[in-house]
Amino acid sequence: MTHQQKTNIIKKEIIASYKTLKAKYPVLRYQNFIGFSIFISCLLFSAGLGYLWYVDMIPAWALILGNAFLFGVLHELEHDLIHFIYFKNNRIVHNIMLLFVWLVRPLTLNPWFRRVLHYHHHKFSGTPHDVEERGVTNGEKWSLKRLLFTPDLVIGNLLRVVGLFSDIKREVDKGNLKFQTAKKLKLSGVFGLIPFTILSHVILYVFFTDIFLDFLHDKYQLNWVMPDAIKNILTWCNPIIYIVLLPNLLRQFCLHFITSNLHYFGDVEQGNVIEQTQVLTVWWTYPFQLFCFFFGWTHAIHHFVVNETFYIRHIAHKKAHEIMRKHGVRFNDLGTFRRANRYHEI
Ligand SMILES: [Zn+2]
Ligand SMILES: [Zn+2]
Repeated sequence: MTHQQKTNIIKKEIIASYKTLKAKYPVLRYQNFIGFSIFISCLLFSAGLGYLWYVDMIPAWALILGNAFLFGVLHELEHDLIHFIYFKNNRIVHNIMLLFVWLVRPLTLNPWFRRVLHYHHHKFSGTPHDVEERGVTNGEKWSLKRLLFTPDLVIGNLLRVVGLFSDIKREVDKGNLKFQTAKKLKLSGVFGLIPFTILSHVILYVFFTDIFLDFLHDKYQLNWVMPDAIKNILTWCNPIIYIVLLPNLLRQFCLHFITSNLHYFGDVEQGNVIEQTQVLTVWWTYPFQLFCFFFGWTHAIHHFVVNETFYIRHIAHKKAHEIMRKHGVRFNDLGTFRRANRYHEI
């Protein structure tokens, strides 16, 4: 059987399992309503946790863990919105939802620009011009550098951009990528970071530098401290840092760690969905999965059946895994860490 035939069977069987599930629980058909309820609940809960922390009723770590979980759910919702799964025919509500899920996750790319990169990802997963995945360290050799830049879209991408753009140029020269598409990808990758992504990264860089300098000052009496003006700005930004940015840093690290190791890179056969991803369910990934709503369990399913909500994918994941396993999709292939995410042995 060819990979295309296998893929078609996997698709057909997963779609059938979704149909059965929806027939059993008709409430699942109210997609817009469910999506909007998840959206509002996550926003209210995260604001509630923020308030409880602000009035000293919960410690900072509880706020960070709680909001990282909730923003992880909102990330899944954003991904659904990128695929026009909610309010497709009501662009105002649709775009308002997209705006808010971005504002509470400002370390990420602007979702309207991300849509360009993400659609490209679905079409060309694992190729040198899969900008979305390469932007989160997919395909690189494992090192301390990769670990440090896993959550970082600004400095991390600044260090990577020359290599990435020259790879894109090579792909255009070889005829693997249209010139216009290449241009669109590059522009989306750069403009998508402006302004919130860059601004929120800079706030975090200053925040951590301040902590580090204070530590050096206390421990070794070093006199390099942040100027008072910057310390004042940091104090003013404190609620945003604790309620929004630190939870997102944790969430983004977990998501990027999981996604960049479940997608294969570099030697994926063009159009072969079976080789694009693996399923990651191994126990030690649970702490990471918790803050990206078990992305490792479900993202490979999404590569086969794109237009379905994240919660249906989640509810029906057991059946989907059974189908995928039967037809040769990989599960918990930890060799990927050794092979810089190549599908085959190097
Ligand atoms: Zn997608
Ligand atoms: Zn993917």
